[in-house]
Amino acid sequence: CGIVAGISTHDVVPTLLQGLQRLEYRGYDSCGLAVHMGSLDPSQPAGLHRTRSTARVAQLSAQVAQEQLHAGTGIAHTRWATHGAPTEDNAHPHFSFGPHAPGAALPESSARVALVHNGIIENYETLRAELQAKGYQFSSETDTEVVAHLIDSLYDGDLFDALRQATARLQGAYALAVMHRHEPHRLVGARAGSPLVLGIVPGAGAAHYVASDAMALSGVTDQIVYLEEGDLVDLQAGRYWICDSTGRSLTPAQRPVHTVQ
Ligand code: GLU
Repeated sequence: CGIVAGISTHDVVPTLLQGLQRLEYRGYDSCGLAVHMGSLDPSQPAGLHRTRSTARVAQLSAQVAQEQLHAGTGIAHTRWATHGAPTEDNAHPHFSFGPHAPGAALPESSARVALVHNGIIENYETLRAELQAKGYQFSSETDTEVVAHLIDSLYDGDLFDALRQATARLQGAYALAVMHRHEPHRLVGARAGSPLVLGIVPGAGAAHYVASDAMALSGVTDQIVYLEEGDLVDLQAGRYWICDSTGRSLTPAQRPVHTVQ
């Protein structure tokens, strides 16, 4: 029901948790956060790591503190279940480990794609059958998980390109934020039918955030771009690109930066 994700040269985790708290008013049944370990401190073991809860954001924050999660790249979510009960396995972020044998015990840090989603993927059953035939194992009952595996199946070294190809296959409504194990300093997002804004923090502490509501970023930045239907974003700490659904770049005149109150 709510997304906050960010990329920075500083720790984004406190901002993500604060953003989730600001989105609590929308209602939710579970929540979760994933970070790219090593995106801030290269001495940390690299890889994706997540923590999820069917309790409140305050509980998630306690888990994050206990696990000492700090990262320059991270994604967070509050879920309002549409497909699959409100359990921890169905809570976002969803991971793709790539195709593998059923029942294989894979360490979480070997996950390749991490993703949060708001909305409903209408054609998830078709996509799930297709991905299962390729050897992808599903660990949730959500419509969302197909998107993580679809992006993995299309990935060829460029996460933005994989996202663009994946969204061309999706029917339904989505706001998405996605990270990849092999690209610690990149965060990509997309929107169609569900809201998503881009927040820009300029200057020395440069950062970029996407959120389902500008309010999630209040106190963090007042510089907001309202993404439009079909827009895709490709983010680094100090740079952002906005493209239409075909991957054609949109200019600042086409997607102006607004100063919000
Ligand atoms: N349809 C997805 C699910 O049930 C996302 C729901 C949401 O927008 O929170 O997990």
